[in-house]
Amino acid sequence: MAYSDRVRGVFGSQLDEIREKGLFKQERFIHSAQAADIEVEFPSGADVRKVINICANNYLGLSSHPDVVKAAHEGLDSRGYGMSSVRFICGTQDIHRQLENKMTEFLGTEDTILFPSCMDANAGVFEAVLTSDDVMISDRLVHASIIDGMRLCSAQHDTFKHSNVEHLEKKLQLHADKRLKLVINDGVYSMDGDAARLDEIAELCEKYDAMLFVDDSHASGFIGKTGRGTHEKCGVMGKVDIITTTFGKALGGASGGCVSGRKEIVEMCRQKARPYLFSNTIAPVVVSGVLKVLDILSASTERRDKLEANTAYWRKGLTEAGFVLKEGDTPIVPVMLFNAKLAQDFSRDLYEEGIYAIGFFFPVVPNGQARIRTQISAGHEINHLDKALDAFRKVGKKHGILGLSKGEIIDKYGL
Ligand SMILES: *Cc1c(COP(=O)(O)O)cnc(C)c1O
Repeated sequence: MAYSDRVRGVFGSQLDEIREKGLFKQERFIHSAQAADIEVEFPSGADVRKVINICANNYLGLSSHPDVVKAAHEGLDSRGYGMSSVRFICGTQDIHRQLENKMTEFLGTEDTILFPSCMDANAGVFEAVLTSDDVMISDRLVHASIIDGMRLCSAQHDTFKHSNVEHLEKKLQLHADKRLKLVINDGVYSMDGDAARLDEIAELCEKYDAMLFVDDSHASGFIGKTGRGTHEKCGVMGKVDIITTTFGKALGGASGGCVSGRKEIVEMCRQKARPYLFSNTIAPVVVSGVLKVLDILSASTERRDKLEANTAYWRKGLTEAGFVLKEGDTPIVPVMLFNAKLAQDFSRDLYEEGIYAIGFFFPVVPNGQARIRTQISAGHEINHLDKALDAFRKVGKKHGILGLSKGEIIDKYGL
């Protein structure tokens, strides 16, 4: 038998080590649709409870929106369930091209290509576009999928300190001799909720003849005055050469992603990007749903405006209660606890109070920066936020951290 006790032991001891370090991730089973109010089984086998969800990427509250669900049903009825093919063989429907055109219009770019996910978009785009004569210069905190994508590409790789444009400029000078330079950022960074300084970065790219890449997964649909993304917020629409984003967050939350940008780059992806060539694209039912999402967002800014108001209300409430937050204005609102065990205990106590929010700690965030990452949604009503604030105050009081500074929390709980 190949899967011998010895082999089993190799994996068993690695899993034990993850458990011993307190880093084992336990999934919670949701018995309802994704929304502000959900029904959760946790731990496995426990009674199902009604809780308020404040940790979803459902920023616009569209994951279970009736119009989106209806459009998805219609797509299922008219275009079937599956394509049983990659795009270039017989896997392209009219609605796939429609979605590409709609994204191009929404993002203000030249063309768009769909991918099975944004992870796949990031896995494919660098290798399709760059060679060993080129350099990728990335912010040190870019998303894991970008890091994996860069690993698959033969171009040289360098980094700049997070959001540090002076350091980026030095790196651009250092790599002046390369055929092509690509500066790589997340639009909004998911752990701290801070936005890239795209106005300054775009200026540097122009000065040093570099291309600009932004992964706007945590921004598309709601950041900027009309929700186009970080490029709109920073006043650089039309100046970002490559945008990747996901349909798995604000834009309906199902799945799928895309590369949008300069038409030659999109065409290179269509010819060469491996996740595009060798994996099925987005299922028709999801394409139909995302098309409806874009209609909703193009008709009115009501949902992103509500999200902005909810976020301001939430930040103000937590600040007044005496929590230490990461500064910012995006719907990602990290409540800093610093100590990993405190973050886990806090999350468990919140759950007891009917609030679902997860503790983040090393290796997801740096050591000593454990937190509860809350994410606000246009699907939240004020009474959801008030209930959640009550729970935070109660649990914060229990752990004796209300009104404490960062230093005082660390003195009390250690790192
Ligand atoms: C969520 C996320 C992704 C992955 O998106 P999928 O479509 O789920 O693969 C990629 N990049 C960033 C920055 C993300 O936040």
